[in-house]
Amino acid sequence: MLRTLMMATAKAALLSLAIPLSPVWGQNSTIITSTSLGPSGPSGGAGAVSEKNSRSGLLIDHLSARKLETWKSIEELVFAEDKEKQPLHPTLRSMWEWIETSGHKVYVEFMDPKRSSTSTAGVFSIDKVDPRGESHSSVIRLNLFNIDHAAMPEIAGEKGGFIPFSQLNGEERYAEVLGHEMAHAIYILSNPERTSKIFDNVETTNQILLLSNVDRSRGQRPSDMDMRKRITKRDEILLQLEAVAESMEKQVWKELVKSKAIRRKMAGDAIRSAFDGKR
Ligand SMILES: [Zn+2]
Repeated sequence: MLRTLMMATAKAALLSLAIPLSPVWGQNSTIITSTSLGPSGPSGGAGAVSEKNSRSGLLIDHLSARKLETWKSIEELVFAEDKEKQPLHPTLRSMWEWIETSGHKVYVEFMDPKRSSTSTAGVFSIDKVDPRGESHSSVIRLNLFNIDHAAMPEIAGEKGGFIPFSQLNGEERYAEVLGHEMAHAIYILSNPERTSKIFDNVETTNQILLLSNVDRSRGQRPSDMDMRKRITKRDEILLQLEAVAESMEKQVWKELVKSKAIRRKMAGDAIRSAFDGKR
């Protein structure tokens, strides 16, 4: 039987990996929980639907027709090729293809800016773990409004020349955040032992934290020492997850910046040849 996990709250469940936007992008709070994940993620009706039809990969059932258009333009960017038919964004493309063939479900949703934290650009979370490890159900949420309005740090600082979103616009930025969240998905879903370890350390600690708040209100307190150890371990794991996702995001960003001139030239050539054809 599949296990349903509680979705994140501000200080509770932490297996919800969010990208915070600047001015503290990627600094001390590289991993934050999403405070508002919308009323009905895959934890609602979608989980049951997906079990019936056993589809997997990136699932876009939750996107409205208008949002689907945006998603299609992100997809086109991910799969863009140069004149020699070589992928312009091999990192994004390979991550996308991995998810598509993984057997896992990764729903895609665009967050309602009114219902989400202003500091969140994207979130990856798992809502059902398949004990066989074959088909976990998870979701990637992108907050397009926050991504569009993100302020950028003036200097790259510790990120070795990487300034998130720098030189990128619109779909390019969405694709960068998608890359970060897909990296989380792949790292967590690709190894059954890792999935279990992350769940045991992160989810269990969060559940205990939740329960300890209740106990405290009843005058009982869990051992502070034990709790501190658990939280330290959980935060170590979360930092490790963030480091992996950030290094992939940096690679995605590099490829998007590098391909800009090629894409611009190809678009110009296409327009010119369309006009030439009409002469
Ligand atoms: Zn992250």
